[in-house]
Amino acid sequence: MSETLIEQTMISKLPNIGVNIFSTMSALAQQHKAVNLAQGFPDFSPSAELIQLVHEYMLKGFNQYAPLAGVRSLVEGLAEKTEKLYGAVYNPDTEITITCGATEACYTALTSILHAGDEVIIPEPSFDVYLPAIELSKAKPVFVPLTFPDFSYDWELIRSKITTRTKLIIINSPHNPTGSILTENDVVQLQKIVEEYPNVYVLSDEVYEHIVFDGKKHLSISSNPVLKERAFVIGSFGKTYHVTGWRLGYCLAPAKMMTEFKKVHQYNTFSPVAPMQFAIADFMKKPEQYESLPVFFQNKRDLFLSHIRESRWEVVPASGTYFQMLSYKNISDENDLEFAARITREFGLASIPVSVFYNDKTDHKLLRFCIAKKEETLLKAAEILCRI
Ligand code: GLN
Repeated sequence: MSETLIEQTMISKLPNIGVNIFSTMSALAQQHKAVNLAQGFPDFSPSAELIQLVHEYMLKGFNQYAPLAGVRSLVEGLAEKTEKLYGAVYNPDTEITITCGATEACYTALTSILHAGDEVIIPEPSFDVYLPAIELSKAKPVFVPLTFPDFSYDWELIRSKITTRTKLIIINSPHNPTGSILTENDVVQLQKIVEEYPNVYVLSDEVYEHIVFDGKKHLSISSNPVLKERAFVIGSFGKTYHVTGWRLGYCLAPAKMMTEFKKVHQYNTFSPVAPMQFAIADFMKKPEQYESLPVFFQNKRDLFLSHIRESRWEVVPASGTYFQMLSYKNISDENDLEFAARITREFGLASIPVSVFYNDKTDHKLLRFCIAKKEETLLKAAEILCRI
């Protein structure tokens, strides 16, 4: 086929989407041998015991397809954990699916519920994973800013965007990239909306559920009985067990929603990697691991912040997640894309410019730094920040 014929016939379904900022900044970090606080992933090892379990399951022959919903012991363990933590009962037979990362869970939930012309309310800044699935479904994103500078939900504004076509509201708490978390009032306001609008569903991205600081509490949408009946609740084993590369997440939803979810999942991945699922199922029986995460990550955040206290960077308080946003408004007028690229090149520190999380590229002069790093990495980064 000639070049031009390919150009004429290979029509992009995602014309506005290119290589994402996480890959771009990681590549730039590598090129300049920069300290990489850009893409959100730990630079320390997961538990040796967990790795040993994977090894044992592989040697024992658990290397073939897992069932469609996921390995049974993991699905049951997750049902138990969700009931214990959030008082939410999900039926392991019909209401839980293990996915290839939370990314696949988001994609599958969105494509299984959205029809052409449906509207989806996306509070911004927003993680980049939702929009492509909305576009592929020929649905319409409706962007609503979180309030600035505290990044909370503005329920009046959200309500004003609801139409007869609104199908879904996306909630993400703890929130990437800002680190803000849902309040009791947010849950009440969202409940009122779904009670008033029977066509409106919720996608609740809770991948950082165990990374909440300062004694605050994660409010899962699953813990609200009204919202639970209308929500896809999405979680991540990658974040909880420091294994983002294993690509293991999950979705919880009422049976009617999960039936549609499973139809898409079945022909997308069928089921994710099996031996890791068996290993996590055993490992998660010890709650100490996830119970220790708030303090573990809070110590990292505090260490990082205590070493930049004397710098010109301004801290935007974060209540959770892998991330800490810093404002450079006292340092430079450059736009955040240019500034993030320049400090990677010139100072050897990579971050993520927050404007990429806004459809209209709103620039609050903020950069996002990943604090899920070894002490030495955080200290190196802090030392660089103090020089800027
Ligand atoms: N969730 C991670 C982040 O926000 C990584 C995302 C990705 O690489 N797609 O940095």
